[in-house]
Amino acid sequence: MPLHFAVLASGSSGNATLLRVGGLGVLIDVGLGPRILAQRLSAVGASWRDINLVLLTHTHGDHWKEKTLDQILRRDLPIYCHLYHQDHLACSSITFAKMKSKGLVQTYQADQEIPLNSRLRFRPLSVRHDDLATFGFRFDVAGGPDHAARAVGYLADLGCWDSDLAGALREIDLLALEFNHDVEMEEASGRSPQLIGRVLGDDGHLSNAQAAEFLSCVLRHSSPGRLRHLVQLHLSRECNRQSLAVQAARAVRTRHDARFEIHTALQSQAGPNLTIHPTPHDGSAHRTTRANLTSRLMQIAPAAQRLLPGNECPP
Ligand SMILES: [Zn+2]
Ligand SMILES: [Zn+2]
Repeated sequence: MPLHFAVLASGSSGNATLLRVGGLGVLIDVGLGPRILAQRLSAVGASWRDINLVLLTHTHGDHWKEKTLDQILRRDLPIYCHLYHQDHLACSSITFAKMKSKGLVQTYQADQEIPLNSRLRFRPLSVRHDDLATFGFRFDVAGGPDHAARAVGYLADLGCWDSDLAGALREIDLLALEFNHDVEMEEASGRSPQLIGRVLGDDGHLSNAQAAEFLSCVLRHSSPGRLRHLVQLHLSRECNRQSLAVQAARAVRTRHDARFEIHTALQSQAGPNLTIHPTPHDGSAHRTTRANLTSRLMQIAPAAQRLLPGNECPP
């Protein structure tokens, strides 16, 4: 039962990511309008028919769109959000109020383990950001008699982190993490001091350097070779460059002698589109020898995904 993870768009103009496991499709955030969302789903070989539920990280305008909520309502899809999101959106969105009265709104709490089916569960992780309640997620896919469990971490908007947050994402196969800005570019951006202060503050966004240190901390909490993919999210178009974000992640990879692939999600197109197949229980999938790495990459990396822009091959 493969796990599919596809970013549909990432950045301050709109965010959405599709995670699919065993016929269950989870759309994380709905920050694209219906037309673009349908195009991006098609670009990763999916459609609305593959979506069974929606998960909301927070209520900033780049993470939900009224017209897309209308699509969700028409398709009778449940949306999972925090109680604060529910109260906020019930006041600011006519469609959301209709979803609530139709019983489509489910609430989650920080650190609550929520099973979505017999194999997939998620845990909301509270993070600091300048929305009153903002969350990342840990997804766990149960293992079986012959194969190990798999896990994915998703942190899109956050201004700072601590060791507990990194510990909550230990032993994951894929980490999707905000690499928002380069601090020097942000300070020299010509933006207002208030905006610069907001972005750089603890309730703003992660810089490349902050994200790199968080990544390093996750690796310290995990077995060597466990992390297979890093997906960089929410890059600022004005105050970051893909090359700088990748450089920061590569430095961590080298420091830890790790082998994970580095992918950078973009605003302008879908990708990366990744598949993680189950791996045997004997732990061979997580050893870092070249032979194991090669066979593992053949298992987890279909040729097409390497061709997507922003998808960097391992050394
Ligand atoms: Zn955002
Ligand atoms: Zn935000």
